[in-house]
Amino acid sequence: METKSGYVSISTENIFPIIKKWLYSEKDIFIREIVSNACDAISKMKKLVSIGEADLPDEEMNWKIEVLLDKKKKTITVYDNGIGMTEEEVLKYINQIAFSGVKDFVEKYEGKTDESQIIGHFGLGFYSSFMVSKKVEIDTLSWVEGAEPIHWESNTGMDYSISPSKKIDRRGTYVTMHIADDSKEFLDKYKLRETLRKYFSFLPVDVYFIDVNEKKDKKEETEEDKPKPINDPNPLWLKNPNDCTDEEYKEFYKKVFMDFNDPLFWIHLNMDYPYNLKGILYFPKLKLPYDSLEGTIKIFYNQVFVADNIKELIPEFLMLLKGVIDCPDLPLNVSRSFLQDDDCVKTINSHITKKVADKINGLFKTERESYEKYWEDINPFIKFGCLKDEKFHDRVKKSIIYKTCDNTYLTEEEYLDSVKDKDDKTFYYVDNAAQQSQYVKMFSDSGTKVFVMDGPVDVPFMQMIEVKSKNKVRFVRVDSDVANALKTDTDKSREELDSIGTSLEELFKKVANNEKLKIKVENLKSSIPAILTLSEEGRRMQEMMKMYGALSMPMDEDVTLVLNAGNPVIEHLCAIKDDESKKEELDLLCGQIYDLALLAHKPLEAEDMTRFIERTSKILAMISKKEA
Ligand code: ADP
Repeated sequence: METKSGYVSISTENIFPIIKKWLYSEKDIFIREIVSNACDAISKMKKLVSIGEADLPDEEMNWKIEVLLDKKKKTITVYDNGIGMTEEEVLKYINQIAFSGVKDFVEKYEGKTDESQIIGHFGLGFYSSFMVSKKVEIDTLSWVEGAEPIHWESNTGMDYSISPSKKIDRRGTYVTMHIADDSKEFLDKYKLRETLRKYFSFLPVDVYFIDVNEKKDKKEETEEDKPKPINDPNPLWLKNPNDCTDEEYKEFYKKVFMDFNDPLFWIHLNMDYPYNLKGILYFPKLKLPYDSLEGTIKIFYNQVFVADNIKELIPEFLMLLKGVIDCPDLPLNVSRSFLQDDDCVKTINSHITKKVADKINGLFKTERESYEKYWEDINPFIKFGCLKDEKFHDRVKKSIIYKTCDNTYLTEEEYLDSVKDKDDKTFYYVDNAAQQSQYVKMFSDSGTKVFVMDGPVDVPFMQMIEVKSKNKVRFVRVDSDVANALKTDTDKSREELDSIGTSLEELFKKVANNEKLKIKVENLKSSIPAILTLSEEGRRMQEMMKMYGALSMPMDEDVTLVLNAGNPVIEHLCAIKDDESKKEELDLLCGQIYDLALLAHKPLEAEDMTRFIERTSKILAMISKKEA
């Protein structure tokens, strides 16, 4: 054969600058495209063998891809022992088809300047090698009998020459890329190996990485020096779930997500119809508040890695999980914005949502004890899912449990069944069990359950439950109101109680230095002299303002000091309040009662603390004097 040369097309001069600029941020996809082609070439060869079109001796069926790095010559070469190409095929596939693919690609996406909008870049194919190369060579020998070895080369992607190959003497294809100076980072062994691992850790064909400059000292190759593939061609997600052991799931998780901890549990996705989807979703053990809630879902396309966390593809709340999803039916070579309306994406989304809900309900029903143990870790995920997806909430709502301050877990139904007053659907809760312990004690003394709602999504979650119940279910923080359960019968009438309040009001406003402080008098079951309450609505409003960055308004407005009429100190106050000679004592006692109530409500600020300590000392001195 003679050497031929020419131009692939004339009207295309500006295509490469566009592609180059356009894909600059993801240059490493060239390696994905070239190795994927090698893998395809092997699949085709396998297919020909399997249907009896080709007959190969066993030793020629050790399917493999080699990636050869020659830093000295500044080349990266990808070899596959796949189908190879004849001269006609090179002219057709490389000069025409591959190139028209590039043209289509550019025509379709030119003007869409945001490259992150494109997911797969599949379809750019062979020509992506010119993004990093100043020259690309192909040496190929077709499997067809009597085929000649062919050499093709091009400096720009637009010119080419084709001639007999001197390099190749075995079936398959070498693609040799002469790396341009602006891409020399790929000549770094570690960078290249890392890129290969990123995309091909689970490729179905063995991939070997070979540094050709590395000297082999030993003459004889032992079993240990034998090159090992960088990939695992049979990833766990492809196995039949019935054949996978717990150990395998855990090991796979640790390897892929580099987490030392075992996952809590997992879901093996295995869908054949109407779309093909396989994968494993893991519920990780969270170390809140140190860990962020963000997970990682790795998307694969026929065992080739595509990207992490493509939010258009999977339900948003699943982003809190860790997992792998391989779906050859997903349209990954389109713009992301198209995916949202894609039927395949929608079907897959609801399939995954259902599987996750089924798993949660299954655990709740059959393994309640372990489920309660997992709850701390999985509740942010479940609650977030409920907030984001109504259907998910409908599916799992019966499996939602609430943790009480004494570490038991109840569903909404179980709790409401246990409450005596069937019309009262109030959940009392704490969001800071240590700080609110005084209130918790009062509630538990009266036999009322208090729940812990201190998670990252509990506030919006409670709000959602209230709205869904048409405000029949209410969540009330323990310091929001004096619950009926905390009051006890008294022989004093409402008027008498109120008049005590009126008579002490000015004194307390003064010591609290808050003109708007409200005073209420109740007969409490507890032995403490007073508690502070802050209305649930007022507090939620404040929290919301804080969340949106608005200056938090002072909480003075909505604060009520509830005095315990049955407490001896309060009774004493009533007795001495008009006695001029007891004025100092009166001030000290009122100040102390107010600060104690404040202390049980929130930490004291520096100034208040100093005042509190000084006053306490004075009171102690006073008692000592009396005793003396
Ligand atoms: P695509 O892979 O999307 O078809 P490419 O531009 O990557 O587009 O490749 C164009 C064609 O060139 C392929 O369809 C294939 O026929 C041929 N080809 C590319 N690489 C190889 C290879 N390593 N072995 C055999 N044929 C190849």
